[in-house]
Amino acid sequence: MRTYNLRIPVVNTSPAPPTRCPFCGGGFFKALQVCPKPLRDLEYEEVEAMRYRCLRCRRTFRACPAGVSRAHHSDALRAVSVVLYLLGIGYGVVAFFLALLGSTLKKPIG
Ligand SMILES: [Zn+2]
Repeated sequence: MRTYNLRIPVVNTSPAPPTRCPFCGGGFFKALQVCPKPLRDLEYEEVEAMRYRCLRCRRTFRACPAGVSRAHHSDALRAVSVVLYLLGIGYGVVAFFLALLGSTLKKPIG
């Protein structure tokens, strides 16, 4: 019998400092501001993101905590919803189940 391991990503609330600029690869930054990021997650409603300016190319970028990307949903919530969907549960029922857990997963209209 084959066994599977399910690893739900951990969501942190504050970001780690960046190591490289996503645009030019530079390694020196100036911290500009802490910007709260609203998040759809099973545990957190908001996390802290940090805005940096690259001292090499002068462009700004935002560093999000681990388990959080540019998307509205956390990696953990997306993983749980995908696993439920792969188990054969319909999208509407997955959204309903996640709503019972206190999170929202928007069902597309149409
Ligand atoms: Zn740069």
